[in-house]
Parts: sequence; structure tokens; C-alpha cells
Amino acid sequence: MRTYDITLTISPDLPTWPGDPGVEIERVEKIEDGSNANVSRVDMGVHTGTHVDAPYHFLQDGITVDELNLSLLTGRAYVLHLPEVDLITAAVLEEAQIPPRTRRVLFKTRNSELWAGAETEFQTDFVGLSEDGAEYLVRRGVKLVGMDYLSIAPFKQSRPTHERLLEAGVVVVEGLNLTEVDQGRYTIYCLPLKIANSDGAPARAILIGV
Ligand SMILES: [Zn+2]
Repeated sequence: MRTYDITLTISPDLPTWPGDPGVEIERVEKIEDGSNANVSRVDMGVHTGTHVDAPYHFLQDGITVDELNLSLLTGRAYVLHLPEVDLITAAVLEEAQIPPRTRRVLFKTRNSELWAGAETEFQTDFVGLSEDGAEYLVRRGVKLVGMDYLSIAPFKQSRPTHERLLEAGVVVVEGLNLTEVDQGRYTIYCLPLKIANSDGAPARAILIGV
């Protein structure tokens, strides 16, 4: 069984959402300066790199990231490869024939090529999930949706897709790096940091081949 790390590396070079805080990492205690240990400080937004959106991100009465059900974030998952698609609509998903009873879907799109190329600038023309695509997944009983760019929704169209998913209790995982992963079945472990009352949190995410 192979383990795939599908997590982006957090560094100041990582692209961040326009308007969100950038990443700063600073070593505040240094052994070479006489400190007992090296200690670093990290300053960044909670939607940095590979991360989970809590319902509270878009829903004022939604639960926060520390309240998410971890059983949704771990278990059988299906990676769907859609290399030719610019927008993931209900029609695209219908045609893709996701296996029956799939509860967790990760989308591998042309977005993953950006991570393979170590792109450091934010891109606006990334592939996203449409509102009707979100509705389709909710109807199918999907409980976790993952995307290989920094938002599940197309640029400038965040709210409808996020609302349909989050109000249905679907966990949204963004910023996945699926470069090394082929379409198929895996087990996912995606564990967001337990930050009190937060609208999101960075996560370490891995897939294990089954
Ligand atoms: Zn987010």
C-alpha cells in the first residue's frame, strides 16, 4: 500500500487568495544566537495551502472547524480525474460515472499542473465546481469534496457553490496537490488543526492506496 502526501508545503512562496494574509515564517529563538532551542513563529490565514472550510466560513450560523465530524474527514475516497474540463458541472459529473455509494470525492484537474510546476503566483482561471455540480453531489449523498486549487468554486463565484455544500454538511477540502495520484479508490486521512471558533484550518492530508 502506497501513501501519497497530497498536502501543499507551507512556505512564503505558496500562492495565497487575493486579500488573504500571506505566509510569514520567522525563527524567533535561534541556537546560533545562544538560545536553548530553535523556535519559529508562523503568521498566515487559516485558508492557506491545503485546508478545510468550516460551514462558518460562509454561513453565519454554521459550525466552526473545531466542531467538524472527523469521521467525514477519514475513510474511503474516490479521486476523479477531469483533465479536459474548465468547469465541473452536474452534466460533467453525470458523465463521469462516479462509483455508487461514493461519500468522498477529490477532483484532479488541470489545476494540479500548477503545483507540479511550483507556480508561486495566484491563478484566477483555475477549474472549480459549479453550483449545479455542488447540488448534484449533495443529491448523491457525497459528504466530502476536495479540490486541487485554493477554492472549490470558480473565481469570483465563491458563494453559491460553498453555500450548497456547507449548508448540506459537506466538508470542503481545498488546496490539494494531486499531482502524483491517479484516478481511483483510496483511503483519505485529512486532519485540520483544531483551532477554536475558526472558519477554516490548515490540514495534513494523505491518501493510502487500497
Ligand atoms: Zn477555504
